[in-house]
Amino acid sequence: MKIIKTLVAALAVSIAAMSATAYAADKGLIGVLMPTKTSQRWINDGDAVKSQLEALGYTVDLQYAQDDIPNQLSQLENEITKGPKALIIASIDGTTLSDALQKAADAGVVVVAYDRLIKKTANVDYYTTFDNFGVGVIQANSLLKGLGYPDKKGPFNIELFGGSPDDNNAFFFYNGAMSILQPLIDSKVLVVKSGQTGMDKVGTLRWLAATAQARMDNLLSANYSDGSRVDGVLSPYDGLSRGITASLRAVGYGTDAQPWPIVTGQDAETASVKLIISGEQYSTVFKDTRELAKATVGLVDKVLSGGKPDGLDTKTYNNDVKVVPSILLTPHEVDKSNYQALVVDSGYIKADDLK
Ligand code: BGC
Repeated sequence: MKIIKTLVAALAVSIAAMSATAYAADKGLIGVLMPTKTSQRWINDGDAVKSQLEALGYTVDLQYAQDDIPNQLSQLENEITKGPKALIIASIDGTTLSDALQKAADAGVVVVAYDRLIKKTANVDYYTTFDNFGVGVIQANSLLKGLGYPDKKGPFNIELFGGSPDDNNAFFFYNGAMSILQPLIDSKVLVVKSGQTGMDKVGTLRWLAATAQARMDNLLSANYSDGSRVDGVLSPYDGLSRGITASLRAVGYGTDAQPWPIVTGQDAETASVKLIISGEQYSTVFKDTRELAKATVGLVDKVLSGGKPDGLDTKTYNNDVKVVPSILLTPHEVDKSNYQALVVDSGYIKADDLK
């Protein structure tokens, strides 16, 4: 009898322990939708968000949409049928998800726009990103620093590239950069020899490197075959920067006689940090995706636990229906002089991966 009692008691304890574990390990499903794996940053983002959510006891469904809008839409619709508590979405085209998000709202799902604003819907609860206008300001200031302005007076020949016109961020980057560059274009310190300015002319659909490379080829042959030199290129993203430098290399830049122009970038991708070390690309903008993941996961966990997030920006991001309360993190310029401290010593990129 005593043995049976002891066994029953032990069983009860282990059942209680099991259900406690099960409870702690299951705070519910969170769907995480990322745009593409062709860029390293989104892989880093997805990994960081997933592991941080799992550490808190959530189950995570992480999906990539290969930059295909219908694909992302069907991933979203499918995800909603699984009954998630929250959705974290880095959209491809920020205007295409409204109908599906209505279903998410009807089901009480918390929706967070991750890094890219979701537009034209009331059904997005929060937005977590970096100071995107600030990114553009950093890129423009870095371009000027690389050109040696104001010690060198110019005029400098530059060309401008913008990001994908269906990504709201692209306009913030471009406008941030032009807030610095436009006065110097007006005063003829900077000369856009092609005359191509404005997002309608300089935008790069879907952020494709090949598109930027082809446009740079055209700019060079149409405007610089007379022996004149392009001194700088405003590029909003490392993938585009690598397309642009490939185009420059093909016409002979990157030698003592014809040194690299100053080319900016964004995301501190390993491939571009290597080019910064070798002098092919001048700079990038480091946005620590681990921090963005942390801010997003912290926000989601707080809201799902019944808390109210504080310190949100409630002015900057109007999505054409409402101002979406946002967390804005700080971007940093990275060039040859500080990449070690910012991206290697911080553990963002392993020193070995830069060899
Ligand atoms: C992100 C950038 C990235 C770009 C291309 C933007 O929405 O904010 O960090 O370079 O997309 O992937």
